[in-house]
Amino acid sequence: MSIRKVAVIGAGTMGSGIAGQVANAGIEVWLLDLPSEDNPNALAERGLQRLQDPNQPGLISKQAESLIRLGNTRDDFEQLADCDWIAEAVVERLDIKQDLYQRLDTVCKPDAIITSNTSTIPIRLLVENMPQSFRRRFAITHFFNPVRFMRLLELVRGEDTDPAIIELLGDFCEQQLGKGVVPCLDTPGFLGNRVGVFAIQCALHAAFDLGLTPLEADAIFGRPMGIPKTGVFGLYDLIGIDLMSDVVQSLVNILPESDAFHAEAAKIPLMTQMIANGQTGNKQGQGFYRDSESGREVLSLETAQYQEAPRLNLPLAELAEREGINKLLQDDSLHGRYAWRVLSRSLSYAASLIPEVGEDPVGIDDAMKLGYNWIKGPFEMIDEIGVDDFIGRLEADNMPVPGFLAEAAGSSFYRVSDGELQARHFGGSWHAIERPEGVIRFTEKRQTMQPRKRCAVASWYDLDGIALVEFHSKANALDADSMQILDDALSHVEPDGMRGLIVHNDAQHFSCGVNLQAVREFFRRDDMDGLDRFLKDFQDTVHRMETAPFPVVAAPVGMSIGGGFEVVLHARQVICHANSVTGLVESLVGVVPGGGGCKETLYRWIELLQCGDDITEACWKAFMNLGYGKTATSPIIAKKQAMLRPNDRFVINRDRILGEAIKAIDDPAGQVAFERPALKLPGRPVFEEMIKWLETSRDKGMFMQHDVNVGTEMARIVTGGDVDPGTVWSEQDFYDAERRSFLSLVATDATRERINSMLDAGSPVRN
Ligand code: NAD
Repeated sequence: MSIRKVAVIGAGTMGSGIAGQVANAGIEVWLLDLPSEDNPNALAERGLQRLQDPNQPGLISKQAESLIRLGNTRDDFEQLADCDWIAEAVVERLDIKQDLYQRLDTVCKPDAIITSNTSTIPIRLLVENMPQSFRRRFAITHFFNPVRFMRLLELVRGEDTDPAIIELLGDFCEQQLGKGVVPCLDTPGFLGNRVGVFAIQCALHAAFDLGLTPLEADAIFGRPMGIPKTGVFGLYDLIGIDLMSDVVQSLVNILPESDAFHAEAAKIPLMTQMIANGQTGNKQGQGFYRDSESGREVLSLETAQYQEAPRLNLPLAELAEREGINKLLQDDSLHGRYAWRVLSRSLSYAASLIPEVGEDPVGIDDAMKLGYNWIKGPFEMIDEIGVDDFIGRLEADNMPVPGFLAEAAGSSFYRVSDGELQARHFGGSWHAIERPEGVIRFTEKRQTMQPRKRCAVASWYDLDGIALVEFHSKANALDADSMQILDDALSHVEPDGMRGLIVHNDAQHFSCGVNLQAVREFFRRDDMDGLDRFLKDFQDTVHRMETAPFPVVAAPVGMSIGGGFEVVLHARQVICHANSVTGLVESLVGVVPGGGGCKETLYRWIELLQCGDDITEACWKAFMNLGYGKTATSPIIAKKQAMLRPNDRFVINRDRILGEAIKAIDDPAGQVAFERPALKLPGRPVFEEMIKWLETSRDKGMFMQHDVNVGTEMARIVTGGDVDPGTVWSEQDFYDAERRSFLSLVATDATRERINSMLDAGSPVRN
């Protein structure tokens, strides 16, 4: 059996997200909710609107949208008769879910798979009134919000679920929906929420008990621990303080009294008051944080009043982010003690769950990485701290040492043996970490390899005869050293008999652009020649990618913007993730793309529009992409914006990108060489028209003066500027023009102000 037609029941937050992801996979899906009075499909329509939110688009394309059929459970229930999979995502009420299953059993075909998205109700209860024929094809598929972007899918098997159904669902969700499937037992909160909510509660209570401000707590329980920067208070605001409190309460209700969770679940009076006041977080515009006209404000946990949020200077946080979690634990300041309290409790809680929730650390670690976006899972963190050091400190604090942790004394939870990555199992044996065929996580693979060359910000490896370049700086910002590693790898491919080169990393974002700090250093030193050399080296390196006589594949995930996208633009083929975000956003910080980005944008529009000799339209399109700093939120949109070429492909599961990139190296058909002939430019008349357009837009209040200045430089590059129509430029002329414009803009106070503000305040000024 295969899954070709799907229905989702309940078109709320989760149901609409699940339907969206099914449609993203190219599969027809019915989305049903309760009928409303005037417009029976109103609730399902609202579900679709959620998916269309431009800030967080749930759909990758209009084609995907066209696969969603909207309906209601009164008029369209018969549609379920030929569905292969029905995913229930109605409100978290046992009676409502049970009634629905009774109805489903009368309509659905006998082998249809039924799953629930429940977070808290055990399977045993969900199907207690159902016949065996239903139970055997019933499971829990627990998706995370937002479904398109959160990688985790917890797949929970009931006592009666047929293993073949679990296998089929697991393969479908992994390969077609792109999820990291973590098999779970039917235990309360499964894995992600059990550990994740516990950790959040620890971080919350510790902040109140130790007297940290929300800003301080988020600065520690955040990036320095490899946790998203929303930290704890920011996360509460994001999810909703009321909703999070409900989640905590539901875990209180289902966890046994002996569970350590209860000690972290006490209600905090200030938060009860906040919910009553409507200070429930971002959705109400105020929670622990709020934005006011004068800037960001933070709630004082002592006075319950908002105060201007100061810019926090916490060298400890910066040090730990750079050098690892032990820096936090070696520090006996208040912040160091906060870190220890949170980590000691949450990491040992995770260890205490083995073997109740599973036999090894992999499920919990995967759940936290894929469902909560932690960089490392709890057991990987203990390995980083050192098992013995961690146990020693727990003992010194008279804290219990869970059995699974004690078993690892003198050793670790993961090891590399016989060239493979292995995980410790309960009882002391070791097993290789098994991933589905075709899944390769470079973060795991690289533990079994030595880099051929490494520096602080990038490395390159020989991956079974392919040079693999990995960036690994903060946000994977690029500097001269990153480009030098790329250049070194390029120069070794042929002499060392390698088959090609892949640029890839398994971080959240492929690269957020050139390191602005490095650019600032140049202008602070007044070293414009140095900046020009940096740009020239950057251009030469990407040009070597473009003209390499061997396959070059870029395999980006997350964001590739600015300079990061310029690297991608020069690969012969791009194999990216369905959620990749691409674009040249340099205009925001007052510069032009200076690493071949303007040039590539123009050539790609010429190709897409099949311009022939008159390239004026392509010049305008390129000018608009660059000037507005356009980004594409999916590869399909990127192709329409001439950011990707027809031979570039996307993969829905990011764990499969590297495997596909390797295949692409060995498939000459996908590799399309660049043709970048000299171009006849439209020159002065079009350049002047563009300037006029910029000035008119400024006069209408759409742009600031410096937007006009930056736009003028972009116009100068794509049209040739103040030259006669028909003037011919080579590819190198475009590179040179980019550098000239970049340098002329960096010489201005307004650009420097934008860069300073981006670096110091985290956002560019409008000037
Ligand atoms: P929601 O309140 O946003 O949506 C629930 C939808 O179900 C509503 O649109 C409601 O009209 C509809 N509904 C209620 N009774 C129905 C019925 N009999 N037939 C058809 N539709 C009906 O809820 P949600 O957040 O999407 O949660 C849905 C499920 O997913 C719950 O079981 C919840 O525990 C689980 N879950 C939620 C999250 C989350 O972050 N929100 C995460 C994972 C799992």
